[in-house]
Amino acid sequence: MNPPCPACLAGPTSIDGHADLSVQTIGGSLLTFQCRRCQAQWARSALAGVFTWKAIDPQTGRTQASGTAVPPRSDPFKPTRS
Ligand SMILES: [Zn+2]
Repeated sequence: MNPPCPACLAGPTSIDGHADLSVQTIGGSLLTFQCRRCQAQWARSALAGVFTWKAIDPQTGRTQASGTAVPPRSDPFKPTRS
């Protein structure tokens, strides 16, 4: 894994994060982004117009700050009982 680039070290801010982030998934209010320079993954949530950024652990796919699982892109919804 690459060391974080200066922009990721500083942390993404506002709606775009920083110039090298590209959108990975779009779903509801949670978006995930990956940095083109250092491959760091970030989750952005929007609550009441305030954007909050959290780093995603590449090993677990969970955000490091809260432990909230990031929804996988292509997992179909499976009901637990019929
Ligand atoms: Zn980066």
